[in-house]
Amino acid sequence: MLLVPCPHCGPRNQSDLRLLGASVPRPDPNATSRAEWGDYLYLRENPADWITESWYCRSGCRRYFSIERHQGTNEFRIPPLPGNKLGTSTYTTITVGSSGTQAGANAPGEDDRS
Ligand SMILES: [Zn+2]
Repeated sequence: MLLVPCPHCGPRNQSDLRLLGASVPRPDPNATSRAEWGDYLYLRENPADWITESWYCRSGCRRYFSIERHQGTNEFRIPPLPGNKLGTSTYTTITVGSSGTQAGANAPGEDDRS
């Protein structure tokens, strides 16, 4: 079970949200071959690294949001957004452990994308 940090209403149980999948840029349908369109629809990379996912907060704020998750450790990184209840002006890494959720800002310059 994951605690997914919704940027609008805070950490929520995974069952309160719906994972929509990895965020992949949609190709232009008029300039894409059938094979490329099929790759876009059905093929996803599965790296043991950070990926950007889209989630829907179906039991909370009912908003869509994108968040980065490390597929090896299930840590989350929240982009700095206005009104973000979890983050600050820098990326925030959320580590879910046996004692609950811990949030903390990354070291300066480590993941600072602002
Ligand atoms: Zn929410």
